[in-house]
Amino acid sequence: MRKIIVQKFGGTSVADTEKIKNVAKIVIKEKENGNDVVVVVSAMGHTTDYLVKMAKDLTPNPSEREMDMLLSTGEGVSIALLAMAIQAQGYDAVSYNAMQIGIMTENIHSKARILGIKTDKLKQNLKEGKIIVIAGFQGVTEDGEITTLGRGGSDTSAVALAAALNAERCDIYTDVEGVYTTDPRVVPHASKLKEISYEEMLELAHAGANVLHPRSVETAKLNNVPLRVRSSFILNDLGTLILGVDKMELNKPVAGVAQDLSQARIVVCDVPDKPGVAARLFSQLAKENISVDMIIQSYARKVSNTNDIAFTVDKSDLNKTVSALEALKNEIGATGEIEVDENIAKVSIVGAGMIDRPGVASAMFETLASQGINIRMISTSEIKISCLVDKDQAPLAVKALHTVFNLDSDAVADVKGDLPDV
Ligand code: ADP
Ligand code: ASP
Ligand code: MG
Repeated sequence: MRKIIVQKFGGTSVADTEKIKNVAKIVIKEKENGNDVVVVVSAMGHTTDYLVKMAKDLTPNPSEREMDMLLSTGEGVSIALLAMAIQAQGYDAVSYNAMQIGIMTENIHSKARILGIKTDKLKQNLKEGKIIVIAGFQGVTEDGEITTLGRGGSDTSAVALAAALNAERCDIYTDVEGVYTTDPRVVPHASKLKEISYEEMLELAHAGANVLHPRSVETAKLNNVPLRVRSSFILNDLGTLILGVDKMELNKPVAGVAQDLSQARIVVCDVPDKPGVAARLFSQLAKENISVDMIIQSYARKVSNTNDIAFTVDKSDLNKTVSALEALKNEIGATGEIEVDENIAKVSIVGAGMIDRPGVASAMFETLASQGINIRMISTSEIKISCLVDKDQAPLAVKALHTVFNLDSDAVADVKGDLPDV
């Protein structure tokens, strides 16, 4: 039986028609290798950022439904152009958006999860020898409403399609040569990893390493989809393979460092120190689909019998969070301010090798202290330690931690494309 390969190309890889021709060549080569090919593409270049900017020019709080209507248009352009580019080379190709296939999601706008994918039409098209080009990032609800999966979500579309089609592999083609020990745009001497475990990659992605959408790694792990990250521009390098931790040797405590500049910190001050308050607060945020990351509750002040609850949320949820807290303040009896700080960054070290190795946390804190960096919050998991620091100190923190944990390489990483200037 022929094998199915899912390939995903990000924004930089399809930024203009020349790059789309380059992608068509890569796709056709895989087809010529004797495989069935399903391609997932993102919107061209910085299209999604420009669409967001246009909406924000009109209103600070655009409705989530209309944002999904708007943002899902970006991928519609790139799928049609790529299908044409493949056809121009004499191959049979067809493009589909998520509605035409049935990439079914939850009924939640802006960060819907995929619930299932209908594969009949896809399998039929593959049988007919067609190369299929599918719009990433978008989905559809039972009621026919258009949804999106969250920024960077095309990776998740690709992995979910690979899982649904029982594909041999999912290749994520991007503007760097693979997964590095940290963002090579921040540390040019970052080292490329030949392989990394699903667990570590998941933590790194959650910690801000946007080379992969966190839910794509989660989906790959859950469905045992072999996942590879590689460059669209440098084809003689096979990139990074993401696989189960049991297959790896862990010779370093830290596999990678990440920074997340997209969070905001909120403090609800003077909250009564009694059972049920945190439960009420966070259940309301959950009801409104707001994901909370780091949480700290201060030690209760004896005189007032109150404490402060501090936590972080994604900046895109900040307005919604503050409105929810204002509405809840009286009910939970909070008498202080609701403080908001957007000038923060989360810096994390990740490594399965830190389990049972004492001294990793203290080495992190000492390194930050030696650079004069103040730690505002700390959170840990079995294989990750995160510190909240001032935003402008994040690059310095990442560089220092990268060096201390022996991750620097002699070579300079090759990064194509600019960062968005919106
Ligand atoms: P695409 O448009 O192909 O989806 P993204 O911009 O979403 O590309 O992801 C690739 C970018 O991820 C790289 O250009 C790099 O700046 C960034 N990045 C962050 N952390 C890492 C890391 N650990 N390894 C590689 N790239 C990283
Ligand atoms: N185009 C979407 C974004 O820019 C999805 C993606 O690129 O993965 O976030
Ligand atoms: Mg991406």
